[in-house]
Amino acid sequence: MKEDFLAYLWQYQYFDKSALSTAAGEPLQVLRVGFANSDAGPDFLEARLRVGEVEWSGSAEIHVRASDWHRHQHQEDPRYDQVVLHVVWEADKPVHRRDGTLVPLLELKNRVKPGMLQTYQQLQKSGSTIPCAAFWPSVPEITKTAMMERTLVERLEQKGASILQNLTQNGSDWEQTAYELLCKGFGFKINQVPFERLARELPLAVVRKHRQSLFQVEALLYGQAGFLEQEVPEEEYPRNLVKEFSFLRHKHQLQPGLERQHWNFLRLRPANFPTVRLAQLAAVLAAHQQLFSRLIEAKDVKAYEGLFMQPVSAYWQQHYMIGRETASEHTSIGKSSVHNLIINVAVPLLAAYAQYTQERAYLEKAVYLLEKVKEASNRITRQYEELGWKAVSAADNQAAIGLFQRYCQPLHCLRCAIGHKILKQSPATA
Ligand code: SF4
Repeated sequence: MKEDFLAYLWQYQYFDKSALSTAAGEPLQVLRVGFANSDAGPDFLEARLRVGEVEWSGSAEIHVRASDWHRHQHQEDPRYDQVVLHVVWEADKPVHRRDGTLVPLLELKNRVKPGMLQTYQQLQKSGSTIPCAAFWPSVPEITKTAMMERTLVERLEQKGASILQNLTQNGSDWEQTAYELLCKGFGFKINQVPFERLARELPLAVVRKHRQSLFQVEALLYGQAGFLEQEVPEEEYPRNLVKEFSFLRHKHQLQPGLERQHWNFLRLRPANFPTVRLAQLAAVLAAHQQLFSRLIEAKDVKAYEGLFMQPVSAYWQQHYMIGRETASEHTSIGKSSVHNLIINVAVPLLAAYAQYTQERAYLEKAVYLLEKVKEASNRITRQYEELGWKAVSAADNQAAIGLFQRYCQPLHCLRCAIGHKILKQSPATA
């Protein structure tokens, strides 16, 4: 037995209330459960009840055993003077407040449906990565959908909060913050770390000064990324990049940046090499002066495609690395990569801006965009798909990831609407 299950039973009053009485035998009536206290002190505040003929207002404290009151030293703590009911699984000992008065005790052990207790234990002890897998088919679709909608919004809020932290570190500079997020996005799964580092070591303010020249933007990106440090290339274009970067590095006093070994090429198709992604990023940076507002204001998926699908320079249309030609020409980033950038750059940025401005419309737009793009299933989402959950869009995928990371993995079934439904549906008997 765990205290959080007892708190759950108390909060939803999932126990037999017929002829309810305290351990001392006085009739008990619950008038108000109170609200859960996440701070120090008693578990529920502002509860109201009638013990015998007297009505009481105060706190309710939850423990597995009544004797935990002493184990936690509550008899010496003034915050517990207001406790009007001690809700326990087992009333093994009467307890008193500091002034010596008896705290009314309610024992739940014989008042909970054995079936509910068994279901709870099954959820807690299940070895499955999704502990409610066996119960999943019995949960109505509407409950699952509502929970998924909740986890999607929570996930977006969490992502938004993390961007707001970056914004603070960047002195409230939205443009630099959006630029860092965009660079990280261009790292996709494999090269996020070096791309993020590149964005910090090559500030947007420097890139912007040369935005009119795609060649100079490329020189800055490839140079600071460490791709111009090799022996002098034979081809004219990369040779010029080397010269240009040498000039720009000196001009802007750039510190030594990344090195070739920081970048990952393993298991990537040439079209996804970081050298190709840098060319695509350079094209986006050169094309847009106000990057942040473009990312926030683009109306729909098509507008984002227009924003990101900028033609790369002639050299990078035909090369995937310096000195290595591609078999087929690539003029710009592909649509599925753009959708990835919508999911990992535009949507989190919108979520952050919604929190910053307190304008929910930006969050709604983030959800709308996720509903319009597809995302490949992954190790997490496949588990729900195996249970019959159909992921139609990226919104479904992101919701499932949120559910898994925030609820299923840490076993927070008592906070989950699906878990709530499962427990509510428990049979009376074990
Ligand atoms: S948290 Fe919810 S969805 Fe996850 S296992 Fe528990 S009840 Fe099921």
